[in-house]
Amino acid sequence: MAPAPQTRLTPAEACRAILAEIEPLEQERVPLADALGRVLTADVTSPIDLPPWDNSAMDGYAARASDVVAGAELRVVELIPAGGFPTRTLGPGECARIFTGAPVPSGADSVVRQEHTTRLDRDRVRIDDAHDAGRNVRPRAEDIAAGTVALTAGTEVGAAQMAFLAAMATFEVEVHRRPTVAILSTGDEVADEDEREEILAGRKIASSNTYGMAAAAIAAGADALSLGIVRDDQAQIRDRLALADAADLLVTSGGMSVGEHDHLRAILEASGDAMRFWRLRSRPGAPVGFGVLDGLPWLGLPGNPVSAMVTFELFARPAIRRLLGHRRLFRRTVPVVLGERLETPARLTHFLRVTLIEEGDALVARLTGPQGSGFVSSMARSDALLIVPEDRDEAGPGDTLRAIRLNEAAHVTEAPF
Ligand code: AMP
Ligand code: MG
Repeated sequence: MAPAPQTRLTPAEACRAILAEIEPLEQERVPLADALGRVLTADVTSPIDLPPWDNSAMDGYAARASDVVAGAELRVVELIPAGGFPTRTLGPGECARIFTGAPVPSGADSVVRQEHTTRLDRDRVRIDDAHDAGRNVRPRAEDIAAGTVALTAGTEVGAAQMAFLAAMATFEVEVHRRPTVAILSTGDEVADEDEREEILAGRKIASSNTYGMAAAAIAAGADALSLGIVRDDQAQIRDRLALADAADLLVTSGGMSVGEHDHLRAILEASGDAMRFWRLRSRPGAPVGFGVLDGLPWLGLPGNPVSAMVTFELFARPAIRRLLGHRRLFRRTVPVVLGERLETPARLTHFLRVTLIEEGDALVARLTGPQGSGFVSSMARSDALLIVPEDRDEAGPGDTLRAIRLNEAAHVTEAPF
């Protein structure tokens, strides 16, 4: 059952409440070249053997192991370049000049590398070293056999998977559709490039969230649909929200607190049972709301730029990964050793911006500076979010805590905070 909206959830509970409303998107068939970062919806079976034939691992001479004896002279009966095929079976005392990757003729079970031979004339070669007897033939299908599962459903297509699929002549793949994340910033005081003069004159602040949230959405694998900035006005906000209806997730910034200009919370609150929660026991993240508006999951993040970036990482990113079809939604955390003293008095889970430096075997974490949520620079300078659990109100140099490395590529299924 969904928690009562007035309950202050822990960050992990918030993740569960969000993910309970989000399903992986439907599948589509895309050209392989467009599949980077997408997740396979079905197992991929190889239509061919890889390698497709017994082939040479060396430039040299294909021969029978029993003929590969130091001092033996063999008759060179043909030449097989990469791209060529043997025309005959090798008999005793015979060999074929062969190049890496070329099909090994039947009858041969060895390729003697060129450096272990002396070519005597056009038709004869001498074996100088018998080391390669029985070696350097890569058997057909040793990598993958036709008809077997090569990649399983749920696998993300990265560069290596892309190469593997291409090797199997699988030039189209079934993947989950890429989510579209609508991004909306709110606030009378925020402005974009078209009001740069106002910003420079100190009458407005730049909407860094418009850029930060869209970039974070794209970095997580989504398409971003920027809905720009809307003033603190209920009617205008409602009109703008309507533009998000084709999106798979709506992420807004600002307007989630308790002030009378915090219209987003009011809209969410007014829409029946749409709201799942709007406050969390975390910092940043106290005013984070989530609801489902006419079927569209809506995550309302705080306006403070640092809070917006951190809570996007904690709550929006796993949601986007779920939509993409990933099973592992959360970045793996790493143990870090504190390099300084810190106090986190309130009974909240804290996510502090830190830099990480390897010192000996340990990763030492130091705060990027003051942790006020107005410090836009702190997120840009941080390597990781240090997790200080709710039950800790202080920690000192040498203590080990866990941190979410912001460029960590490995993911886990359970929220690690
Ligand atoms: P709010 O959550 O709307 O109360 O906003 C909290 C703080 O974040 C205020 O100081 C705002 O000026 C600032 N803020 C709100 N939206 C943005 C934005 N899009 N970009 C940068 N700062 C913002
Ligand atoms: Mg505001």
